[in-house]
Amino acid sequence: MKIKIGHLYGNLMNTYGDNGNLLMLQYYAREKGVTVETEIISLEQPFDPNEYDLVFFGGGQDYEQYIVSLDIKEKAEQIKQYIEQDGVLLAICGGFQMLGHYYVDATGKRIEGIGVLDHYTLNQENNRFIGNITIKNEETGETYHGFENHNGRTFLGEGVKPLGIVQEGKGNNNEDQTEGAHYKNVFCSYFHGPLLVRNQHLAERIVELAIANRQKKNLIA
Ligand code: GLN
Repeated sequence: MKIKIGHLYGNLMNTYGDNGNLLMLQYYAREKGVTVETEIISLEQPFDPNEYDLVFFGGGQDYEQYIVSLDIKEKAEQIKQYIEQDGVLLAICGGFQMLGHYYVDATGKRIEGIGVLDHYTLNQENNRFIGNITIKNEETGETYHGFENHNGRTFLGEGVKPLGIVQEGKGNNNEDQTEGAHYKNVFCSYFHGPLLVRNQHLAERIVELAIANRQKKNLIA
């Protein structure tokens, strides 16, 4: 069996080694006897919601996020469709921010997100949340470790669960103890490090969800 990973804006959004998450996804897929094909979907390229078993959207700097914001609105409907049909998506930091309603960058400029998840991100003056972070996922009881480095302060809407509750570090906003977001099969986090290198259970779960979706599609085909 083969799964296909769509790497959203992989040539623009790739801070702090986030692409290492792809290596982990490939590693665990191979462990399960599954081969992986990865394709970058970037500016002016269409996003086909039926093409991918897993989508990865890494972190980025403000300038790249602005460039991405001009393009991603053309893909918003298709990304929403992918998510609502239980597509598996992992988004880190800037990628996480772009899936929400908007992001106010470090200079105060509002960068539009696509609002496929119900959150928004404000900035903070002359400060970044930088350092080790530990969270606990309330559903699985798992603890995740990582390193955060962001100016943005993200606030989740009512229907969106956090990926975990902050035990150490700042998390989404340093106010409500939330970190990241979890909606359907979408996992978002501020964790670099990269996230999946340090958190094997999550890496395996994400790969298993992608394989299960591929199996369902193969049955229908
Ligand atoms: N530019 C965003 C911020 O500073 C995201 C940073 C990142 O993706 N590492 O909040």
